[in-house]
Amino acid sequence: MGNKNVLIIGGGTAGLSAAGELSNLDIHVDLVEKSDFLGGHAIGYTCKATRNTCVKCGACMVEEKLKDTILHPKIKMWAGSRVQEVSKNSRFTAKIHCKPKYIDPDKCTNCRICFDKCPVDDAILHGSSKNNIPFYAVNEEKCLYFKDKSCGICRDECPEKAIDLDKEELEHSIEADAVLVAAGFHPFNPEDKPYGYNRFDNVVTSLDLERMLKQVGRVKRPSDDTIPERIAFIQCVGSRDSKLNHLWCSKACCGSAMRMARLIKGRRPEIDITVFYIDVQTFGKDFEQFYKDAQEELRMIRAIPGDIYEVEEQKLKINFLNNTTHETLEEIFDLVVLSIGITPGKDNGEIAELLHLKLADSGFIESGAEETSAANTGIFTAGTISGAMSIPETIASAGKAVRQIVKHLRPNSS
Ligand SMILES: Cc1cc2nc3c(=O)[nH]c(=O)nc-3n(C[C@H](O)[C@H](O)[C@H](O)COP(=O)(O)OP(=O)(O)OC[C@H]3O[C@@H](n4cnc5c(N)ncnc54)[C@H](O)[C@@H]3O)c2cc1C
Repeated sequence: MGNKNVLIIGGGTAGLSAAGELSNLDIHVDLVEKSDFLGGHAIGYTCKATRNTCVKCGACMVEEKLKDTILHPKIKMWAGSRVQEVSKNSRFTAKIHCKPKYIDPDKCTNCRICFDKCPVDDAILHGSSKNNIPFYAVNEEKCLYFKDKSCGICRDECPEKAIDLDKEELEHSIEADAVLVAAGFHPFNPEDKPYGYNRFDNVVTSLDLERMLKQVGRVKRPSDDTIPERIAFIQCVGSRDSKLNHLWCSKACCGSAMRMARLIKGRRPEIDITVFYIDVQTFGKDFEQFYKDAQEELRMIRAIPGDIYEVEEQKLKINFLNNTTHETLEEIFDLVVLSIGITPGKDNGEIAELLHLKLADSGFIESGAEETSAANTGIFTAGTISGAMSIPETIASAGKAVRQIVKHLRPNSS
């Protein structure tokens, strides 16, 4: 297998997981990731261990996959890159377009000087994991050098001379024997829901809370950095919603929300936490015990709120229907967390066209599509590009895809 090569599109949990497995089988991998950093969504998630006990949230699994693959000699990582064209003769030939690497990964020591000295917010981005190489990237959309060349502070201050803002885009060609599509999902944007996201400072998404807990290490109200006394989680925002034609359960949100709520409770038992839900999705083999313990710590209300209003001190008033008495109730919270769902990736249409894959009505790419047409034999899918799933399920789907790929590369083996 030493002469075989697999092209992977997407460097999240699925892509990294498959890359690790394939390289361990002596198969070369070219992994093309469109963002500057590898790890996908899950690399930004916090460890949710409560009172020093692992609760199997999966966040560390992604970190481990990144650590194992980032410098693996059989894996070539193409961060900041996109596949533009794919043709097939006896092998696949893919043309990839690579954004310039303004920060040379071989020279950058992650000293943070560029980040600290940059005068514009978000012009230098940093990865969520210490295993990202390099840990920083230049954001052309915000950087003043790309606007009017009025600033070059990062380049001038870098002690390693690792920054070159005049680098040019490159195109490369990759030959591969199989293609694995692992381009992931898009988190639901709740701006159009009546919950005040992006209008009220203290309404955040579960993804914002994941990042807050990972980067800041504690929960706070964005409006004033104070610790909230009452937090509400609203489940199924963007999932199981017939008005949106999102009929699927996102599978990971109940586990993620309850684990984060218990993490917050474990650190600050005085915080009062209410979870509004439709149904609780079971997760993990220890679910029954986990849920029993969670119910002792969290107030679980089976109702989905109608609207959220901002009241004095930027607190939030939630209206909901009591399922038993059918009365409309109102309660005030300091922070509201919207448990947003998994929706189809923004590039799914483009990817389906590029590789002759089938898009389901939901917008996800049909898994198993690789078996349906001669034009795309040798093309496989893994992870949330084909539907909502948790980190362990994503890793399992990458394993399944690897087995299919090996069979495709060695058709005569059992
Ligand atoms: C709010 C929230 C919290 C969650 N918390 C948990 C949790 O605690 N535990 C758990 O088990 N699961 C959790 N999940 C689910 C988890 O995020 C997914 O299972 C996992 O991230 C799926 O990995 P993936 O590789 O399929 O997709 P992604 O993480 O989306 O990775 C896909 C990668 O492909 C890249 N990409 C996209 N398009 C292209 C393209 N055209 N070319 C090249 N690259 C491309 C993306 O930039 C990205 O890096 C949560 C989900 C949500 C929404």
